[in-house]
Amino acid sequence: MNTSLARPDRRTFAIISHPDAGKTTLTEKLLLHGGAIHAAGEVKARGQNRRARSDWMKIEQQRGISVTSSVMTFERTQGGHTTTFNLLDTPGHEDFSEDTYRTLTAVDSAVMVIDAARGIEAQTRKLFEVCRLRDVPIMTFVNKVDREGLSPFALLDEIADKLALDVCPMVWPMGMGNEFVGLYDLTTHQVLLPGGETRQMSGFDDPQLDVLLPNGRAAAFREEAELASAGYAAFDVDSYRAGNLTPVYFGSALREFGVDALIDALEAHAPPPRPQPATPRAVTPDEPTVAGFVFKVQANMDPQHRDRVAFMRLCSGKFKRGMKLKQISTGKVIAVHSPIFFFARERELAEEAWPGDIIGIPNHGALRVGDTLTEGEAITFTGIPNFAPEILRRVKLGDPTKTKQLRNALNDMAEEGVTQIFRPLIGSNWIVGVVGQLQLEVLISRLQAEYKVDAGFEPSPWETARWLSADDPAKLEAFMADHRAAMAEDRDGAPVYMARDAWELNYTSQRNPDIRFTATRERH
Ligand code: GDP
Repeated sequence: MNTSLARPDRRTFAIISHPDAGKTTLTEKLLLHGGAIHAAGEVKARGQNRRARSDWMKIEQQRGISVTSSVMTFERTQGGHTTTFNLLDTPGHEDFSEDTYRTLTAVDSAVMVIDAARGIEAQTRKLFEVCRLRDVPIMTFVNKVDREGLSPFALLDEIADKLALDVCPMVWPMGMGNEFVGLYDLTTHQVLLPGGETRQMSGFDDPQLDVLLPNGRAAAFREEAELASAGYAAFDVDSYRAGNLTPVYFGSALREFGVDALIDALEAHAPPPRPQPATPRAVTPDEPTVAGFVFKVQANMDPQHRDRVAFMRLCSGKFKRGMKLKQISTGKVIAVHSPIFFFARERELAEEAWPGDIIGIPNHGALRVGDTLTEGEAITFTGIPNFAPEILRRVKLGDPTKTKQLRNALNDMAEEGVTQIFRPLIGSNWIVGVVGQLQLEVLISRLQAEYKVDAGFEPSPWETARWLSADDPAKLEAFMADHRAAMAEDRDGAPVYMARDAWELNYTSQRNPDIRFTATRERH
């Protein structure tokens, strides 16, 4: 019996991609192939039920984007051996990258989906950089090979050049677009045909290829495949896990080509739960006591209750329902009576959970993004940032008697990380900071739908904000006194400097070399 707490059978991962590359479709097919759902389309269907509940979700529907991150757990049993996959969904729209960034702190690996016709796009690259910061290993899925795309060689070279990664093709498309015939597994020499049929080849010179690829196309394929298997780095699991090499799978999420190969690869190669950075020491999954951190808080998941669900990644120890966990930032002890697992099809009470698992903890707002929970030890997980907002707005209330509701609502939303709120040292209007325009629209609809508060935004004199710190507190005090009109506090009371534009920020920071102006802040 495996008594170790470190579970080799957990795969906690996210999909990173540019909008429209096919993340939703791939998610659906992964769940389908993993046995979690029985008909493709259920991911969307489930989403639609949820959407119907609240106005702000209509924005998702209208724009066809997914605003909320969620967790989808599915299991796959093969040969008497069950693997649990925790897929953390990340919103694709760039306005919501802040949420995405935090979600990426909770995964052990990622799948990067690339549109075969478009190659590496802006958002893919941004998300990749976040993964690189944390050495998150990446598998690449080049999607839409059923359509005309760039040549596989051009795609591989682009990944290698733009992301400075070794690339290793694991399968090779036999034709693309209309000429697509199947996928050739470069390791096993199996051909995967549409519909799931496989044919074993003896090698690239197998005459069966002449039948599958008539009219001289077999010769061209052989040449390509030789080049593909000889011309790139060999697959090396350590190099992949260190974040230096990405194995590349080609396929089509929509047509379900190559999705099984990707799941097999996740099972075979993706790392099980990894140690997590924390102070004063890193936490390894085989430690006996429970420690985890909150990477996301979602309010009003159930409109009947004003509950929030905090999503906690378990990093060590075996969690049992009813356990008492200490919130390190406040010292408060929370008895976790109703922890939730988010299976792809349903939610379930989590009786026990293992490192790598994500549990939802319903609470009334006590738990916040970035919180560390342990059985008592004073450790704090690091690297879960807040990002400096790029849009700052004053909040304008339609009905002045609703000040309290507004404040509560903004607090809730700040807790979820949907927005940030700043209280200027001078004046009484709260300032809302967001990373993207769409967040403002979501905010207004949610204020109306969930809090019955009519509010709007008016321009603020400021465009950007930075958190301040200094080695010498007296210097920080002096700076704040000098720039009082541009100073605010965030909701934790941390000092924030607001600048009219990038030029002013640059000018002020250069003139005050003893003050650190930071674009991200970690809580605690
Ligand atoms: P997301 O924005 O990354 O979640 O992308 P979606 O999964 O919503 O896909 C965007 C569009 O690409 C949709 O119209 C999909 O039907 C289409 N799509 C996804 N995968 C494939 C594929 O393998 N082949 C083709 N031809 N279209 C695809």
